[in-house]
Amino acid sequence: MQTIKVNLGERSYDIVMGRGVAEAFVFGKIGADKYVIVTDSNVKKLHGEFLEQILKNCGYDVEIMDIPAGEDSKHWEMAGEVGRELARRGIDRDTVLVTFGGGVVGDIAGFVASFYKRGLRYIHIPTTLLAQVDSSIGGKTGVNIPEGKNIFGAIYQPLAVITDINFLKTLPEDEVKNGLAEVIKYAVIKDTELFEYLEKNIERRDEEFYEFIVAKSAAIKAEVVSLDERESELRKILNYGHTVGHAVEILSGHKIFHGQAVAIGMVYEAKIANKLGILSDVDLQRQNDLIKKAGLSLTYDFDIEGALKIMRTDKKNKGGQIYFVLPKQIGALKEENGKVAFPVEEEVVKNALK
Ligand code: ADP
Ligand code: ZN
Repeated sequence: MQTIKVNLGERSYDIVMGRGVAEAFVFGKIGADKYVIVTDSNVKKLHGEFLEQILKNCGYDVEIMDIPAGEDSKHWEMAGEVGRELARRGIDRDTVLVTFGGGVVGDIAGFVASFYKRGLRYIHIPTTLLAQVDSSIGGKTGVNIPEGKNIFGAIYQPLAVITDINFLKTLPEDEVKNGLAEVIKYAVIKDTELFEYLEKNIERRDEEFYEFIVAKSAAIKAEVVSLDERESELRKILNYGHTVGHAVEILSGHKIFHGQAVAIGMVYEAKIANKLGILSDVDLQRQNDLIKKAGLSLTYDFDIEGALKIMRTDKKNKGGQIYFVLPKQIGALKEENGKVAFPVEEEVVKNALK
């Protein structure tokens, strides 16, 4: 078992991570007698009873509710529905909410926790690789509306994150790949050792493998969030691969899953860095070889004007200019005077997307 700290002053919390930590976690230190688990239909079937039993064995009052599995559930009305269900069940502020599932459950239920009775304490128990390495850390919560994704949301930190590798045993291969893309992202932006480990082990699917990559990734995310909770600058490094990736998601009508879109995004963003003379041919190739070895696609047939339009209006960009974080070698990004994102001329972007 390992503990990774997210340092946010009074709102600091631990990510407790390892195999079997859900059972070993000392719920007593949370200081609540009642828990309400919010999960999705798949995770409920697979692991719902297991978690309920753990809490019951500790002598707590436990309730469980679920939403339909999948990204389509991540909308405003569903958050309202979950909140209303809490109200119908008479949940009060002494109850601790437990989000139990992938990123979708974490985002919706975390968001509900932020507004229900002006804020309910909550714990994340992420069950997908993507949620364990990324969305469960940093307190971003939110839902989609017809006008855009994650438009309604809050930064609202949990009391703890319980990251149990054992839940990954039931995760479908496509969902594993979804998470691996973000793990590769962490390696490219910040961790040569993780990158080398992935080069040797990325086809493994055993506990030791997951434990290593989740611990490394979660530590990077926790450190970045601790230094820059509200994304004034440093947290932008986590957007590597996401500027182009976001365009791929939209252009594909969200048929391409997030991790795959980010993988494609990294290929093209690294190409931009290479064209600007920042990243060597060798390191560009090394990154792309690893993405390929992970079983992720490398290319996308772009509608270039469409992609540029999306990137210009991306909420992460300003003044119509497109900003990128640019790797300068495996494990390090270009940084200048504390800045990590740089505007790139559209001609260069266009050329890279060809
Ligand atoms: P993500 O975590 O990738 O952002 P979701 O929350 O939509 O996205 O989870 C992806 C899918 O994986 C959902 O269908 C969810 O029910 C399912 N899922 C989550 N955790 C597990 C698990 N441990 N085993 C099997 N399926 C899971
Ligand atoms: Zn992402």
